[in-house]
Amino acid sequence: MNTINFTTRLKELKTEGKTTAELYNEISALAMSCATGYSVNPAVKNAYYLSMEFLIGRSFYNNLMELGILDETREILAEKGIDINVFEEIEDAALGNGGLGRLAACFLDSAAGLGLPLHGFGIRYRYGLFKQAFENGFQIELPDDWQRFGDPWSVRREEEKRLIEFADMQAYAVPYDMPVFGKKVNRLRLYQAEGSAAAEKISEYLYPADDTEEGKLLRLRQEYFFSAAAVGDLLDAFVKKHGKSFENFHKYNVIQLNDTHPVIAVAELIRLLTEKYRLSFPNAVKVAKQTFAYTNHTVLPEALECWSEALVRKILPAIADIMIKISVLATREQTDAGCTKEELAQTAIYKGGTFYMANLAVYIAKTVNGVAALHTDILKRDLFSVFNKIYAGKFQNKTNGVTHRRWVELCNKELSSLIDGKIGAGWRRDIASLDKLNAHIPDMAEDFIKVKREKKAKLLEYIKEREGIEIPPDFIVFSQVKRLHEYKRQLMTAFAILEIYNGLKDGTIKDFYPSVFVFGAKSAPAYRRAKAIIKFINEIADKVNSDPETRDRLKVVFVCNYNVSYAEKIVAGTDVSLQVSTAGLEASGTGNMKFMFNGAVTCGTMDGANIEIVEKAGKENNYIFGALVEEIERIKGGYNPEEYLPAHKKAVEALIDGTFSDGGTGGFKELYDSLIKGASWHAPDNYFVLYDLKGYTQTLLKINRDYSDKTAFAVKQLKNVANAAYFSSDRTIKEYARDIWEI
Ligand SMILES: *Cc1c(COP(=O)(O)O)cnc(C)c1O
Repeated sequence: MNTINFTTRLKELKTEGKTTAELYNEISALAMSCATGYSVNPAVKNAYYLSMEFLIGRSFYNNLMELGILDETREILAEKGIDINVFEEIEDAALGNGGLGRLAACFLDSAAGLGLPLHGFGIRYRYGLFKQAFENGFQIELPDDWQRFGDPWSVRREEEKRLIEFADMQAYAVPYDMPVFGKKVNRLRLYQAEGSAAAEKISEYLYPADDTEEGKLLRLRQEYFFSAAAVGDLLDAFVKKHGKSFENFHKYNVIQLNDTHPVIAVAELIRLLTEKYRLSFPNAVKVAKQTFAYTNHTVLPEALECWSEALVRKILPAIADIMIKISVLATREQTDAGCTKEELAQTAIYKGGTFYMANLAVYIAKTVNGVAALHTDILKRDLFSVFNKIYAGKFQNKTNGVTHRRWVELCNKELSSLIDGKIGAGWRRDIASLDKLNAHIPDMAEDFIKVKREKKAKLLEYIKEREGIEIPPDFIVFSQVKRLHEYKRQLMTAFAILEIYNGLKDGTIKDFYPSVFVFGAKSAPAYRRAKAIIKFINEIADKVNSDPETRDRLKVVFVCNYNVSYAEKIVAGTDVSLQVSTAGLEASGTGNMKFMFNGAVTCGTMDGANIEIVEKAGKENNYIFGALVEEIERIKGGYNPEEYLPAHKKAVEALIDGTFSDGGTGGFKELYDSLIKGASWHAPDNYFVLYDLKGYTQTLLKINRDYSDKTAFAVKQLKNVANAAYFSSDRTIKEYARDIWEI
C-alpha cells in the first residue's frame, strides 16, 4: 500500500458539490489504486473457501482500517468539512443470510490478516438478502439493491469468464474480484451470471424461494454455477502452471466446502478429470478425496440438503451419473469395512432416487469438521455416527471465531483504546496476548463502565433515530439479535418479558433495574411461524413501551433490518447477550462471540460455543440456565408441555386470549398450537420453550439484581473481554491452516 500517495491524492480530491455516493466511489477507487496488486500465486499451495454466502457487510471502513489509512482519511475529510460517518448511508453487501455467511467473511479477513493464502469463491447476487421493513408490526421484504451506490471494491474480469453448461441452457460466469486486505492481499471471487435473461436469473437473488420445482431447479443451478466455475478455474490454472500431473493437484489446492451447498463441486471435479483429461474414475476420485474438506454447520434435518435424481438429471445428467458412481463405490467400500444394511442406509449417497449431499461430502472429504466442541461431538455420536466408526480420523472440531478487527477494533474504538492503555496495542495483531488484560481487571472497571456507557448511549441514540423509540442510557441493555428461528427461541424471550411485565404490574417484582430488550432478526419470507413471532414481539413492544406504569423501567424494541452494520453498533452497546437456543441445536453461534469481545455477559443455555465461552470466561461471570443436551435427549419422548403451562399461563395465553392482535392472520393461534398441540410433523413444543422458561425468567431477574452492583458487574463483563482471544477467527484460521489445509 502506497500510503503517501493515497494521502496526497485524498488531500487533492475536490469534494465540493459532490454527492456521498460520488465521494464514496472516488475515495474507494483511490484506495484500490494505491493498494498493491493481488492475485493467486499458483506456485504455492492455496486454500479455497467455497460458499454460497459471504456476508461482508460494509467494506469502506473496514478496508481503510486494514490498509492503515482510516484515521488519516477521517482527519483529511474533517478538514474538508466532511464527517466520515456519512458513508454509513452506503448499503451493506448482504450477500448472505446469517452466521454461515458472516463466518466466511470473518475467515477471509483473518487469513489475509495472518498472511495465509485463503481465497473465496461465491456468487455475486444482484440482490442480497432482502431489506426488512415493518408494516403494522409485520415483516415485509423489499429488494436489497446493494450496488445502488456503485461497487468500487470489485474488479470485473471479463477476460476470465467461463461458460457453464446445463442440459437446457448455458450461462457465462463472469468473475468479480474483491481484494481482501491484510498482511497479505487475498481474493474473493464472486461470479455473476450473464449471457441471456435466463442466465442472469441464476445470480439474481440469494436463496430464491424453493417451494416449487422451478425454485428448486434455480437453487440447484446456482450451486452448480459457482461450484463449476470455481473448479474450472482451479483446474485451468493448475494445468497452465503444472501440466497434467493431477496426482499433484492437492499439493497446490485444497477446497473447503462451507456446508453442503457447494458439494456438487466434488462431482464436477471428477467429471472434468474423467471427461476432459481422461483420468480413470478411481484416480479422479482419489484426487477429489485429497482435495476437498467439508464443514458441517447444522444438525437440523431440514437444512441437510437432498436432491431428487430426476431434478439433477434434468439439468445436469452427467453429474447425476457421477454421483451414482460415487455412491456405488462408497457402498462397496463400506460393505468391505463390515457395515450392516442399516448402517449403509445411514451413509447412503444415493438412495430411493435421492442424493444425500452431506453423505457425499463426508465420504469424499479428507476432513469433516463441526464448528464447536459440542456440535462436533453430536456429529460423531449422532448424525454421522456410522461414518465416524469407519473413518474416525476424518472428524475434527474447529470452533468458530469472529474477526476481532471488525468486531472490536472497528466497532469499538473506545474499548480498543482502553485495552491499548493497559496492555499495549500488540493484541490487535497477536490476539492471544489479550489475556494479559486479566491482570488489570478490577482496576479498570470504572474506565470500562464509562466506555460501555458511551457505546450504549451511541446505540440508543441510533435506535431513537431509526426506530423512533427513546431509551435512556442508564438502562441495562439485553440483546437477542440473530436470524429468526424457532430453535433460537426468540419466543421464549418474549414470554419471559411478558412475565417480567406482569410482575412489575402486579407488584410481585420489586426493585427492578430499568432494562431494555433489543431484538433484531429477519425471518425467511415463507416461514410463517417466524413471522408471527416478529409480530408478537412488536405487539409486546407497543404495549410495554406505552404503559405509563412500566415504561420508565421496561422497554422492548425490535430493530428493523438487522444486518452487519447494525450488529456492529449493537454488540458494542450491549450489557447482556441472550443466547438461548435449545441445547444441541445451535451448532456454534458467532454472535455470542462478538458480544463477549465487547464485554457483554452471556445469558444462555449450554449450547454451541456458549459452553466454551463459559469455560474460558468463567461460569461465575456468565448466566447459564436451561436443560442440557443430555436432559433434552432423556425427556424427549415423554415431555408434555401442558404440565408446564399453569406456571406460565398468563404469558403463553397472551397468544390467544385477545391481549394482542395478529391482525386476523391466525399466526398467534398457530404458535400457541405448536407449543401445546404440536403439528403433523412435530411433537408439542419441540424446542422446549415451556420447559426452560422458568429458569430463563429467574435468570433474567438475577442479572437484574446483580447489575445494581455496577463495579462487580463490570468485572464480570471485563472477564469476558480478557478471555475472548480464543474466539478470534485468527485462532480458528490458524487451526484450519495447520490441521486441514496444510498451508
Ligand atoms: C454474527 C451475525 C449473525 C450470526 O449470529 P448468531 O447469533 O450466531 O446466529 C447473523 N447475522 C449477522 C448480521 C451477524 O453479524
